[in-house]
Amino acid sequence: MIAKRITRGVLAAALLSVLLAATRAVAQQSSGSAAVGDRNGPLHGQYYVKPFKIIGNIYFVGFSNNAAYLITTPQGHFLIDAVYEDINAQQVKNIEDLGFKIKDVKYLLNAHAHSDHVNGLAGMKKLTGATVVAMVEEVKSLEDGGVSDFRSDGRKLWEPVKVDKIIKEGEQLTIGSTTLTARKTAGHTQGCSTFTMMVDDAGKKRQAIFICSMGLNGGVPLVNYSKYPNIAEDYMRSFDILRSIPAEVFLVSHTSHYDLEGKLKKMGQPGPNPFIDPQGYKDYIVRFEKGFKEQYAKDLAAAKK
Ligand SMILES: [Zn+2]
Repeated sequence: MIAKRITRGVLAAALLSVLLAATRAVAQQSSGSAAVGDRNGPLHGQYYVKPFKIIGNIYFVGFSNNAAYLITTPQGHFLIDAVYEDINAQQVKNIEDLGFKIKDVKYLLNAHAHSDHVNGLAGMKKLTGATVVAMVEEVKSLEDGGVSDFRSDGRKLWEPVKVDKIIKEGEQLTIGSTTLTARKTAGHTQGCSTFTMMVDDAGKKRQAIFICSMGLNGGVPLVNYSKYPNIAEDYMRSFDILRSIPAEVFLVSHTSHYDLEGKLKKMGQPGPNPFIDPQGYKDYIVRFEKGFKEQYAKDLAAAKK
């Protein structure tokens, strides 16, 4: 146990120097949707985060804003989010730096069909040869490069990618002894996909969750919106779904949504794994639902005028 903590401490100290620089970038992100395709610079305007083991067979292989998760098994791996095409190579390196082979990725999943989570999907499919999986409501947008997305102005935002396996709410995907359950927590997009799994934490089974994002989209009204008429109902149902999941290991597609940086600092200190955060998970639901309800009330009032 002590040895384990020391290892974690050393790991965290190395991560901290990188993460401190990343803090500013993360802090600048809104708690809602991230900028889509408009951030230039190294690593697509993000900072490098040294890939690390979160818990059990779950690893962080993303960047300072856009998370990406590798879930490993001896029979092959799941990868949630391929972020941006121009940083596919760094993401591959992150996976390989952890000692895993990119060709062992068997399923490519995505949190939701917005550019910052799927821009690199076509590229990652070529690099891995993996099966691209998507919630049925996201398929059209993924396959036309985002042109049919309800926020689209008709521009292609990413390389269109063929979906190999279409899933729906509640469907499960298994590799080896790990099973992911897909939950449609729509609103942010029409097929926004949250995944849950049981993770083995040194012999104890814990419920892990990868939330797609419950953030609001800037400029998208929640009332009388012809491009997505049931958007408010979808958000409400999604908050209900999240409330029904007793998650302990709390992860989201954006690092700022679960304070990755703060948690990494805590990893250097004695105590339980900071990513086991059931209270943080509950607070997340409360915080984002409050934001949703405030916007919904405003949009309702405006619609009555
Ligand atoms: Zn988004």
